[in-house]
Amino acid sequence: MPQYLSPDKERELVETANLLMAKGKGLLAADESTGSIGKRLQPIGLENNEENRRLYRQMLFTGSKDLANHVSGVIFFHETLYQEDDNGKPFRQILKEKGIIPGIKVDKGLVPLAGTDGENTTQGLDGLGERCAQYYKDGARFAKWRCALKIGDGLPSELGIRETANVLARYASICQQNGLVPIVEPEVLPEGDHDIETCQRVTEKVLAATYKSLSEHHVFLEGTLLKPNMVTAGFDCKKKATPEEVARATVTALQRTVPVAVPGICFLSGGQSEEEASINLNAINQYKGKKPWALTFSYGRALQASVLTAWGGKSENITNAQDQLVKRAQANGAAAKGEYKGGVGGAAGGESLFEANRNY
Ligand code: 13P
Repeated sequence: MPQYLSPDKERELVETANLLMAKGKGLLAADESTGSIGKRLQPIGLENNEENRRLYRQMLFTGSKDLANHVSGVIFFHETLYQEDDNGKPFRQILKEKGIIPGIKVDKGLVPLAGTDGENTTQGLDGLGERCAQYYKDGARFAKWRCALKIGDGLPSELGIRETANVLARYASICQQNGLVPIVEPEVLPEGDHDIETCQRVTEKVLAATYKSLSEHHVFLEGTLLKPNMVTAGFDCKKKATPEEVARATVTALQRTVPVAVPGICFLSGGQSEEEASINLNAINQYKGKKPWALTFSYGRALQASVLTAWGGKSENITNAQDQLVKRAQANGAAAKGEYKGGVGGAAGGESLFEANRNY
């Protein structure tokens, strides 16, 4: 058998993955692309320009070092990885000094899969090896690539699932060759009126195909992480699932499809409110059953909604906004241990963060 990774590379990937999945810690997804972050800045009246994006991320990354008690890694967007605070210190350096590992979104967004009923694939494989090598040199130790699949009549299609599984495996393989732990993200979208059973069935199918493909591409599973959706009813489904039902369906789907070799699973929040995302993660960790992986968070919206509202783009609100981030991270850190008691509010705690047709 030809060598896939050297023992040293394997060791390093395992070490990074385990640090990211440390007990009671999860990830902050701050990798919104320029268009997506614009949608967050607009409601607080800020123009989507480079300086405002820098000011927002500066607020996010320069608060109390207590953040590192609950957040092990931050996912950056390319622009942010090379931005600096007011004193000229790179954000990635600020986080590293706090003990938080910098990661990088390496996909280049969703593009239509021609000839399908509105399905997408994700682009960004060209030149990925060189980009990963550079990101590693610049301090990143893990990466993210998001695919998105819709549930609907005949959806996702066999082609959509196969393409997702293949592109994720190629990406994962290229990352590992360059020392980055790949976060594999095949998101089954929550839009639609499907019930929780349908979401479970589709999620199982997608995850099974993804792991078959990772195996075919010789991906070293011990040095990967999974970022899936929780199994929930669609946003327009009349019957909402309880946290216990979400936990049972989610853990069952994962048990059936995710190998024990994978060190950790970090969920996306997918439009759940901040509080819902914490309570569901807690229920997942409290669920009695086989759970051989860390089960934690890699939230974007469900960590940043209250922060954005509290900040409002005003320098006098920075400390308050930074406190909101630590509070929410602490709630999710507790949920990752099944110890969250609920009730941590926040300026946007209960607000639905759902957004249709999201391209991260
Ligand atoms: P949300 O938590 O806002 O769903 O986003 C997480 C993410 O990184 C999606 O790729």
